[in-house]
Amino acid sequence: MTETKMHRLLKRQINKNNLSAADVEKFSNFLNAVNNSYFSSQEDLLRLENIIEVSSAELYAANQKLKEENYLKSIEAIQVKNRLDNVVNNLSDIIFEVDHLGNFVYLNSSWIKYGEELPEESLGKNFMDYAHGILNFDAKLLNEILDREFKKDIFKTVFSRKFKNKIKWWEMSVKVIRNNEGAVKGAIGSLNDVTYLKEVERDLIEANKSKSRFLSTMSHEIRTPLNAVIALSNILLRQNPMPYQIENLETLSFSSKNLLVLINDILDYNKLIAGKLTIESKEFSLEHVINSIAKSHKILAQERANKINVIIDADIPTEVIGDSSRLTQVITNLVNNAIKFTYEGEINIKVELVKNDLTHSTIKFSVIDTGIGIEQDKFELIFERFAQAEDDTTKKYGGTGLGLAICKKIANILGGDIKVESTIGQGTTFSFIIDFKNSEKTDQNISKEKKDETQTLAGMKLLVVDDNKINLMVVTQFFDEWGINYKEATSGFEAIEFTKEEDFDLVLMDLQMPEMDGYTASKNIRSLGGKYKTLPIVALSASISNDVRNKAKNAGMDGYLSKPFNPGDLFNEIKSHQKKNQ
Ligand code: ADP
Repeated sequence: MTETKMHRLLKRQINKNNLSAADVEKFSNFLNAVNNSYFSSQEDLLRLENIIEVSSAELYAANQKLKEENYLKSIEAIQVKNRLDNVVNNLSDIIFEVDHLGNFVYLNSSWIKYGEELPEESLGKNFMDYAHGILNFDAKLLNEILDREFKKDIFKTVFSRKFKNKIKWWEMSVKVIRNNEGAVKGAIGSLNDVTYLKEVERDLIEANKSKSRFLSTMSHEIRTPLNAVIALSNILLRQNPMPYQIENLETLSFSSKNLLVLINDILDYNKLIAGKLTIESKEFSLEHVINSIAKSHKILAQERANKINVIIDADIPTEVIGDSSRLTQVITNLVNNAIKFTYEGEINIKVELVKNDLTHSTIKFSVIDTGIGIEQDKFELIFERFAQAEDDTTKKYGGTGLGLAICKKIANILGGDIKVESTIGQGTTFSFIIDFKNSEKTDQNISKEKKDETQTLAGMKLLVVDDNKINLMVVTQFFDEWGINYKEATSGFEAIEFTKEEDFDLVLMDLQMPEMDGYTASKNIRSLGGKYKTLPIVALSASISNDVRNKAKNAGMDGYLSKPFNPGDLFNEIKSHQKKNQ
């Protein structure tokens, strides 16, 4: 083994162990192997060092890249956050976040609008600290509401709050945040100042109310003189007018009745919109109602060369319980239209039993005509107020387009829905289905009632009270015709005086009178006691409002008729008290 080829570490070991040259020679094979392994391990080491160096350079480069990326990402995150903050803080809505205890953990800068506090002043405080000033605030109720609402994920509420003497309306929307187990972690939400909208809404409601008030007053004011026009034209027609006067009187009567229908429609529509239309529940005969409608439209139908027929299913119950006046109003309207839009044709009023059981009967009413028909694409439009199928309808046939809108609303209130089927040039069918309660009246009762209709009023003695001379004249003309004895009173005071002086079978009392109105006069008569407690007093008023009707009832009056009255209704009303009295 040559010394130059010997690894320095082996050399150090040989020297350290004092090996002689002979020993070295002796173990030369072994020492050569050791020497080779020293050299190869040194080479390995060098290779390893090289690998480590390369790797750490790569690692360094990767690290640098990562750092750069993170840096860019954090810049991006900051930019996004700034942008979001910018948006959130420039929203006019207040944005908030509360933890599960209701403490604020986030508030945007619009928060200042709520209570003039900066977000940082309110963070950490509880939302309940800001409930003061909320109108009608009830902490218990609020907790109950929150308990209930927090079961949902999103809820909305509107509340008003008085702050520094100013009332503001706030709309709050809340989204509940839950953890993975579903427990409430907190909530985020918004508060929006809706004071302006609320004020607009209030003004609109107020404007609508004044519109209704105006219409009611105007209609009422028009109804009163119209009452006289209708009644007097009827009376003139009954008093054998000269032939040349008949046509004019009929036109006068027809036009004034049409005007009354229009005014009543407007009043009705207003009531329907205000949800004030009350529905009666009384026993009545369907057959009687339908036949009366057909009878009262016979002449009108004939004038347009139309035939009017009634087709009633044989198994229709004799009596049902419902609102006969409203039913009459809907069918009358449909029949009037059918006559109006049909010439030389037929109008059939059909009543069919859809189903019935012990307590209820479901009835289908149809008004079928053979008239001009309606285009299919107008089926919806015609039910809108002031809408007509054609632009020239008013010019050709008259009308205002209110009728069907009212019919539809009334039918809805009665529990039905009006359907239309039509073919141009062939005719139209309007139909609706209504469910009535069955009446418990027996046929015997009914025939007895019918027999009563044959009675007369002759010989009765009535006191008629009205401050309006024309009204007195109108009513008493009918009294003369029916053989009724009567005395006239022109004020509430006179009414009391005359009832004390003479015996009457009935008092017909106007309601609106100066000095003493009909309510007060009636109360005074009742307070006389004895026979005055049961003396029939019937109100006669130009108002068709239910409030007036109820007020009359509360004043102790027994009946109510609205002006202009249908002579038949007046007759029946008086007759019903004559029966009780005798
Ligand atoms: P009006 O009859 O006062 O115009 P309605 O609301 O009662 O108002 O009817 C609205 C429109 O529907 C009518 O103008 C007419 O165009 C159409 N219409 C209603 N009934 C009939 C019918 N039986 N035949 C043809 N068209 C009809």
